Amino acid sequence: MSVEVRTHTALHVLKGAVVKVLGAKWTASVYVKGSHGRLTVQFGRKPTPEEVALIEEEANKKIREDAPVEELEMERSEAESRWGDAIYDLFPLPASITRLKILRIPGWNVNACNKAHTKTTGEIGSLRIVKTRYRRSKQLLEISFNIYPA
Ligand SMILES: [Zn+2]
Repeated sequence: MSVEVRTHTALHVLKGAVVKVLGAKWTASVYVKGSHGRLTVQFGRKPTPEEVALIEEEANKKIREDAPVEELEMERSEAESRWGDAIYDLFPLPASITRLKILRIPGWNVNACNKAHTKTTGEIGSLRIVKTRYRRSKQLLEISFNIYPA
């Protein structure tokens, strides 16, 4: 399993933690290179250091749970009726796409995503947030992280 598959899966786990702690539901962009990743979400203020620490803690807790990472495929209309706009990121998918691959970590994260993932969250190892940057003019919060072997 490539390290980038683990890092990409960590983005989904981190996003679940960001939604839980900050309520920031819209992903603006993601970036993965090797064991380094960055999640950028729309958010209205700079988070406190305590909130950032809590996001990291919640993400690692979900990793340690070794929760299942499910990949589903279905009609777009069915996915929308089950999860609404929770499956989407800030920039919409073209209307021409009518079948979706869905990534789901039950009770934690659901997202239209056609990339490769680990089978469980435990395969990620562990995660550390190394930097956050808040861009007030764009209302964007960037969270940079590294993953490490368990
Ligand atoms: Zn994915």
